Amino acid sequence: MAEEVYYISNDRYWADVLLCLTSRRASDTFNLGAVRQPFFIILKRIRGFSIKISSVIFGDNFYQMLRKLLVFVACILCLVPCSFSQAPPSWTSAEMYQALRKLNVLGSVLYIAAHPDDENTRLIAYLSKDKLYRTGYLSLTRGDGGQNLIGDEQGIELGLIRTQELLAARRVDGGEQFFSRAYDFGFSKGPEETFTKWDREKILSDVVWVIRKFQPDVIITRFPTTGEGGHGHHTASAILANEAFTAAADPNRFPEQLKYVPVWQAKRILWNTFNFGGTNTQSNDQFHFDVGGYNPLLGKSYGEISALSRSNHKSQGFGAAATRGEAIEYFKTTGGSSPAEDLMDGVNMTWGRVNGGEVIEKMVNDLSASFDFLHPEKSVKGLVELYKKLRAMPDSYWKNKKLSETMELIEQCSGLFTDATTTQQIAVLGDSVRINFSFNNRLGVNASLASVKIMTSESFDSSFDKLLAKNRNFNFSKTIYVNPGSSITQPYWLANKMEEGYFNVKDQQLIGNPDVAPVIMMRAVFKIEGEEIGYWKPVKYKFTDPVKGELYEPLVVIPGVEFDFAEDNNFSINDSAVKVQVHFKRNLRDSTLYYFHVNHSDKWLADKDNFQYGTWGNNASNYVSPVLKPKQPGVSLKEPATLDLKMGDKGLFAGTRKSISYDHIPFINYFKEARTNLVQISLITYNKKIGYIVGAGDKVPEALEQMGYEVTLLTDKELSRNNLDRFDAIITGVRAYNTNEWMNKHYDKLMKYVNDGGNLIVQYNTSNNIGPVRAKIDPYNLTISRNRVTDENATVTILKPEHPVFNFPNKITDDDFKGWIQERSIYHGIDTSGKYEKLISMNDPGEKSDDGSLLVTKYGKGWFTYTGLVFFRELPAGVPGAYRLLANIIALNKKKGF
Ligand SMILES: [Zn+2]
Repeated sequence: MAEEVYYISNDRYWADVLLCLTSRRASDTFNLGAVRQPFFIILKRIRGFSIKISSVIFGDNFYQMLRKLLVFVACILCLVPCSFSQAPPSWTSAEMYQALRKLNVLGSVLYIAAHPDDENTRLIAYLSKDKLYRTGYLSLTRGDGGQNLIGDEQGIELGLIRTQELLAARRVDGGEQFFSRAYDFGFSKGPEETFTKWDREKILSDVVWVIRKFQPDVIITRFPTTGEGGHGHHTASAILANEAFTAAADPNRFPEQLKYVPVWQAKRILWNTFNFGGTNTQSNDQFHFDVGGYNPLLGKSYGEISALSRSNHKSQGFGAAATRGEAIEYFKTTGGSSPAEDLMDGVNMTWGRVNGGEVIEKMVNDLSASFDFLHPEKSVKGLVELYKKLRAMPDSYWKNKKLSETMELIEQCSGLFTDATTTQQIAVLGDSVRINFSFNNRLGVNASLASVKIMTSESFDSSFDKLLAKNRNFNFSKTIYVNPGSSITQPYWLANKMEEGYFNVKDQQLIGNPDVAPVIMMRAVFKIEGEEIGYWKPVKYKFTDPVKGELYEPLVVIPGVEFDFAEDNNFSINDSAVKVQVHFKRNLRDSTLYYFHVNHSDKWLADKDNFQYGTWGNNASNYVSPVLKPKQPGVSLKEPATLDLKMGDKGLFAGTRKSISYDHIPFINYFKEARTNLVQISLITYNKKIGYIVGAGDKVPEALEQMGYEVTLLTDKELSRNNLDRFDAIITGVRAYNTNEWMNKHYDKLMKYVNDGGNLIVQYNTSNNIGPVRAKIDPYNLTISRNRVTDENATVTILKPEHPVFNFPNKITDDDFKGWIQERSIYHGIDTSGKYEKLISMNDPGEKSDDGSLLVTKYGKGWFTYTGLVFFRELPAGVPGAYRLLANIIALNKKKGF
């Protein structure tokens, strides 16, 4: 009896577990080293002993497969304890003891790679929880361009999810998280391509900034600069890390940072070599050590902690198995001195590196020696003494770091419970919100509450001298006014319009920060053992779910009024006037009359300069529709428009609030800037009725309707029932032949339709080699390759300028290939019959030109087209040339006019 076991892997992480299970045969048979994309391996377990690979699935079928396995993945996720906890942290005595010992370790390591999930969680867990180093992970991107297994979010939204997953992972493995401004724009073949989108100097400055701020003794990269890491982002991350290793120490590089941070020279930079995906870059002569130990204080091995950490990457289905036993990590020095005995060779990691620090070391040793696991509160007095000593020392990196660690320890050892929560999730600028405060001196230390203050509201700043009795709740509530001048809950990296390859962040000091800062914060000052110590705490939304129990979520601060464009694209076909709908949503009860203005280029003319809007009442929403006309007739262009609000001070925002909610991460809120495309298209259409066979799902039918066609969606049933003759053209949606098994039974009918004078246009399908095309596609046995052109600006050579595709009814020129987004084409066709006309040739930088993206042939009285051109991306993005070119392909059989 054979049993199927699915293994998921990915270019991002490592088939090492998999290779382990399958023996070396995996790489022999499939040469996994060449694979630079996600893949599934289906393993067959035979009689429970030997495991054999039964097939490997790549490419788009991988994602279909993933969808099928969602239930399977969901099951794995259920087994992983939910580490999303926004509740006030409460440590065990073992954790306090760990933190106490850590006070005497003054060493730090920064790990650098490109994406959430690139990081070596086992190594991070070991460095942070065994060696007790300050350990950080700088992920250059937020993983915006990856695949999402748990929902539809893509791009910045996926980046928001993966940011939270990465933070959850760090809460488990003890690392600290950092990001650069780089945007994960999707797969890139090499670092050169990556650097055309990332502003190399900007991202380098971010890596330098994080190094200068974090001041790591040792830097470790996941990837080499030489390309074995595959993905262009990976190699780029190593190149930038190695450049930054030197640049961070050079006062002439990024001197503008030096008013906040000093220059910093790390001792060394190492590449953490790997053995996965058939690529083995490890060898025994490399510096190596074992990170597979067991930590009895935590009751886990570092391999177990690592698995828990890694399993937080739920949007990627990275539920990971725990490992035990020896686990050797290997390193190659790429800068600075090589380690001989220890990763930290030559680094002083004691208080000796701080002037006057020896006394601290002794105090910490005494505190550790006398720590009482049943009564951690007995350590509070000594910790407060330590706090006072540290405060009195001159400011330095380690002094400040250890001071805040000591404050945390005082809070945890004393058992002080501090809580400021609301019963509503949303607070509106200019409105009020009620906050419930709760304090408890659970272990009865000598403590009183001195004062409580709310940032963003001058209306609440209270002094107390309230002695906190042992294990008695001290609760009170207060309604505060949310200052309209406060900020809204908006991730700082989304506050400004982003570039294609990176986020715009104006405030240098925000760069590197992992998360959105809470808007409403409480500052509670306690007098503990006679010393005033103040803590900042975010005010949170707290509620009890009947199934999940008590939950804490971020409190979201929103503007009084939101206004936005109703559509992403507003079309003027052949110079018609455009009614641009603007949608208003009022979150605050008031009766202000607002005026707004549409910002647009001088290529458009608005019917009025300012538009008026006003309604009365709460949550009122409405539309206003300015009319815009293109100024120059007969041209095609696409331009952005934004909105300006002319009046009011009630915390207004030109954009819409978006939220993302999943059980495993905190509630995510962000605001999307009001922005639309004004698209003028000079477009002649010929033919009218289109049948559209839906494949994996795309927005092409909507675009066809905007072009003026009558679109009928065709499913299996309709294809059987309908007389296809009535369609001037039939278009198959993306991957229709991959997703619909039933396409096969309509093959003859479709070919007859073409033969009789029809026009069949097939958008890309994935190839036979990497996933089954379930039906015959074309009359001449076309095959589909994995060739693609990912550079959206690749020069397009028109091979047959006289062909009707470029001439009727629209004259296609080079201009029509301008402004394309993301890529040009995927899954090109290969014609072995010689029956096809190859109309376009193009290539990615450094590659051979490829002419398989647009293949057209006559068959009988009709036409057949196979195209890998990504109309499914370009049409929803409002790219005029894509509309004009598609109109010509639809017109090929010149069946009927309008
Ligand atoms: Zn990666």
